[in-house]
Amino acid sequence: MEVKALLGSADFFNAEIEGQVNGVTAKRSPGSALKPFVYALGVEQGVIHPMTLLKDSPSPMSSFEPENFDGQFIGPVTAKEALIRSRNIPAISVAGKLSGPNFYEFLKMAGVSGLKSERHYGPSLVIGGGGEVTMEEMVGLYAALANKGILRPLRHVKEAAFPAGIRLLSEEASFITLEMLKDNPRLDQRYNKGWTSDSLPVYWKTGTSYGFRDAWSVGIFGPYVLAVWIGNFNGEGNPAFVGVRAATPLFFQIIDSVKAQQNGLAEPMRPFPENITKVEVCSVSGGLPGAFCKRKKETWFIPGRSPIKVCDIHREVVISDKSGLTACPPYSDGTHAEVYEFWPSDLLKIFQQAGIPRMTPPEAERNCSVTAASAKGIPPKITTPVAGLTYTIRSSSRSHETISFLATTDADAHEVFWFLNEGFIGRSKSGSPLYWSASPGRYVVCVVDDLGRSDARELKVAVVQ
Ligand SMILES: [Zn+2]
Repeated sequence: MEVKALLGSADFFNAEIEGQVNGVTAKRSPGSALKPFVYALGVEQGVIHPMTLLKDSPSPMSSFEPENFDGQFIGPVTAKEALIRSRNIPAISVAGKLSGPNFYEFLKMAGVSGLKSERHYGPSLVIGGGGEVTMEEMVGLYAALANKGILRPLRHVKEAAFPAGIRLLSEEASFITLEMLKDNPRLDQRYNKGWTSDSLPVYWKTGTSYGFRDAWSVGIFGPYVLAVWIGNFNGEGNPAFVGVRAATPLFFQIIDSVKAQQNGLAEPMRPFPENITKVEVCSVSGGLPGAFCKRKKETWFIPGRSPIKVCDIHREVVISDKSGLTACPPYSDGTHAEVYEFWPSDLLKIFQQAGIPRMTPPEAERNCSVTAASAKGIPPKITTPVAGLTYTIRSSSRSHETISFLATTDADAHEVFWFLNEGFIGRSKSGSPLYWSASPGRYVVCVVDDLGRSDARELKVAVVQ
């Protein structure tokens, strides 16, 4: 939080260059540079995890997207990709689900000065079309991500006290947000990051304001937070002021020269927050992989908090060998099973609009309802926790007591996923229990097998002396 240096303008007395404007305390429009905090709040409040699929659709509000050079919109997109690529519609939809705090209240909490009433901005606040920040405020917010969610004031004097700061975000949400920003690729780097020994990650984001008045590149590397802003002090726009084109090259030149000067520049230790885990998800839907998901990816996850369900996009259908159409039950010998994607019609439409073809299941042979083959079979049945029983844990050993979750499953289910009040807490092989660290409360326990069949029941946990 120490300011390394503060330099005056080229000429304090030259009015033509607005020589008396202090560039780091002047209010500027952030463009997309504050979007990481929308996603951080989304992670924190259980609205998204990095692989959550969000809709990016055409909308009048997305007309100003100077950082999206590759076309108008990109169809359904993961939260991480939406953040890195500065998509407006996904950010607005995540922000719309935030509460206590929402994005506006978050900026207030963070001490961003001069904000008008919430009504004044509407959704434009999220896409950087309203609330203005100073570079110091911007740097403070990014530093909070590196400081495990704690916002601290900048120190302009080395001997100044080191105040405790205030918590803006949880450690988990800060960590996951940095992990998302780490995957923002460096544009001038024409080689794969993994090919080099250069292991110093850069967590960064660009911003471009409406009317091309401000170009930002802000991020964290090693022990430093660095923000580059390019613009005119008189507020005049210039089409060249696009964050990724104007500010980013300078941003990385500074990083490279700091690295060149400080041999062995390393990142401060970033231990994993306690309540965080990596889960494997279907790379297409971002859901827990069902039996028919082929490609899988890992995502960061806050157990019991991050939203997730078993992928219901990939399902197996029975196809007639002869016609190639979906067969109607009862199935004859001349049929085989194939896996298809079942998209909800709104997402399918967005894929089509984005020019991304999806293989949809073939039509049914006759007028029978096309159901996935996986809809058959017997749903899992929870055996423990036992229905109607109140589980008790002793107050003296609260952190050590576990309750086992077990379900009987049909022969074709290989794995089950466990949820408490809709929050995913873990997976277990069919026939094996999952041990849950009990904490007092009333819950709904739900089990879903890898073919999407489920069972649920109530669970009460009480504390005794
Ligand atoms: Zn899937």
